[in-house]
Amino acid sequence: MEISASNPVATCAVPGSDPTAAARVLYDEVAGSGIVPPAEIGAAAQGLVALARIYGTTPFLPLEQARREIGLDRAGFGRLLDLFARIPGLRTAVENGPSGRYWTNTVLGLERAGVFDAVLDRRPTFPHLVGLYPGPTCMFRCHFCVRVTGARYQASALDDGNAMFASVIDEVPAHNRDAMYVSGGLEPLTNPGLGALVSRAAERGFRIILYTNSFALTEQKLKGERGLWSLHAIRTSLYGLNDEEYRATTGKQGAFTRVRANLTRFQQLRAERGEPVRLGLSYIVLPGRAGRLSALIDFVAELNEAAPDRPLDYINLREDYSGRPDGKLSPEERAELQAELHRFRERAMERTPTLHIDYGYALHSLMTGSDVELVRIRPETMRPAAHPQVSVQVDILGDVYLYREAAFPGLAGADRYRIGTVSPGTTLAQVVETFVTSGGSVVAKPGDEYFLDGFDQAVTARLNQMETDVADGWGDRRGFLR
Ligand code: SF4
Repeated sequence: MEISASNPVATCAVPGSDPTAAARVLYDEVAGSGIVPPAEIGAAAQGLVALARIYGTTPFLPLEQARREIGLDRAGFGRLLDLFARIPGLRTAVENGPSGRYWTNTVLGLERAGVFDAVLDRRPTFPHLVGLYPGPTCMFRCHFCVRVTGARYQASALDDGNAMFASVIDEVPAHNRDAMYVSGGLEPLTNPGLGALVSRAAERGFRIILYTNSFALTEQKLKGERGLWSLHAIRTSLYGLNDEEYRATTGKQGAFTRVRANLTRFQQLRAERGEPVRLGLSYIVLPGRAGRLSALIDFVAELNEAAPDRPLDYINLREDYSGRPDGKLSPEERAELQAELHRFRERAMERTPTLHIDYGYALHSLMTGSDVELVRIRPETMRPAAHPQVSVQVDILGDVYLYREAAFPGLAGADRYRIGTVSPGTTLAQVVETFVTSGGSVVAKPGDEYFLDGFDQAVTARLNQMETDVADGWGDRRGFLR
């Protein structure tokens, strides 16, 4: 994150920026608003900067806590919130802050869709996001995967499962083109009917993103399942940058060589056919691998050489979000990672200038120079009614799960988060409606927090924050930015 001296307001939540310069610029805007008595203009300008810093760093803080931190009474704080809403540069400041990705990647889009209010009002609505988990198995055994070793769905479940997925695709309201994605659970490309399902969704106008390990993304597969070319994007989870790293992470020999060959050929075919499908990578920085980021850019550059006119579209860099001790980087390695991220960005500008890089919630914060803690939901802060109006996941049996990491076969305790089953007589809308209107709820047990991925955690934190704001009498301003 570059700190622009020419725009001290838009960057005032970034560590190292000058709050006094920002308050000086804001002084005139506050004076012009007519909301604040002349004697309080300076303090109000400083309060606005403080507010931007608070919500740029701790996006899920209840308003009452922010009020106490700033030290205003309720009337004064209400005026400050009014002022904040009138000055667009302050909104930008929050989005540019160390935790800004929570706002831009997750919260604000869901606010625009109005789905948080549906959850708080316990109103049944069709889920805003539907994860289709069609893979019956996976060829990898990643050491961090929650999957029970050897667990899979029977091949005999495929025909009925794919008919059920087709019915879900037909049921999803078409107004939100990004309402569905294909992921796992297990590896989606192990389902031979996936291409046909993707075609069906594309014909209805949906933009489907496939999350895959790309081990099975061969030329033969693409010939046999032409529907895969109708995907909006293919996002490949990359588990290393050589065969040894892949073996250490996935347990499979020679897997990197094969994934690299598949992606290289995909690049060539995509360019030759002029297909619009986007290609991206997702790379989790695992402990011991912080120093490998430069090699990651070299890998992208190598893929780009296969199709110089159609370079790779994007890369999502992530830290292990699970909160499990074995995924955590040591403080020394985090310091190394911070320096490495900057080298990575420079190398990317040089070698892969068109590549879009998303650093996610945590790494964005590290890039800004402040190492804010990721939001961590614990069993006691999980919401008994969860958020099926925001998202659900459907596996090959038609079972509907409340959280993204719960939809694996045989996972202990996950069945408590299964809210029903889509079948010839029951639609997804009916499953959700029954759960919501019957007051369905789940009492969380220790360890249940691992069923939530980073998205589920952010959504839960947001809903908890909104509920507290409403209870504190800030209903009309709940959640700060919308
Ligand atoms: S993390 Fe994904 S690729 Fe790895 S074993 Fe689990 S399902 Fe398979």
